[in-house]
Amino acid sequence: PPTDPIGCPTAQAVAGATSLQELQLAIQGCLACPLGPGRLKFVFGEGDPLARLMFVGEGPGRDEDLQGRPFVGKAGELLDKMIGAIGLKREDVYIGNIVKCRPPDNRTPTPEEARACLGYLHRQIELIRPTVIVTLGATPLRELVGVSEGITRVRGQWKRVVVGNREIPVMPTFHPAYVLRQYTQDVRRAVWEDLKAAKEWVDKAQEG
Ligand code: SF4
Repeated sequence: PPTDPIGCPTAQAVAGATSLQELQLAIQGCLACPLGPGRLKFVFGEGDPLARLMFVGEGPGRDEDLQGRPFVGKAGELLDKMIGAIGLKREDVYIGNIVKCRPPDNRTPTPEEARACLGYLHRQIELIRPTVIVTLGATPLRELVGVSEGITRVRGQWKRVVVGNREIPVMPTFHPAYVLRQYTQDVRRAVWEDLKAAKEWVDKAQEG
């Protein structure tokens, strides 16, 4: 794919990608932010390219960096269970992240890093055209949706994001890693209620 001198795919290559595969090919050599040189594997995202429900997390951790797949460690196992609890399988949804390369020591991506990567996620969303997006934790809510309030306060409250002239409802919920740390009945019930609401919206949209 065409790249500029710092390994950043051109805007045309991103906008011109007509499938997820084309987009991945165009951007997988990206070095547009400081996270690029430190990655072992690029984590593009995975799932049904026509998924009605899309999950967006923060960024790859150690296991994801090793395998090149999103949510494959302990948090990934829990995410699979969360998806199963609303009657779906991982293959039925699409799972992506705000940044596609691992931040060192699993720190939160900086706003600059998130911004450098956001155009790729936008194109992914344009190609998938999900009915609902579920954001996992504070970072995707802030960087994708522009909501900086605490996740504990806003989880379960519908938000919206406009991507490519399309308005998409967003359901914010906790990140599975947080659920693992705070493994209480209240937290688990909250996540289940959020995902159930997201699934109900998808089902209603399909009926309509
Ligand atoms: S995190 Fe995103 S913007 Fe930064 S190098 Fe990786 S793909 Fe490029």
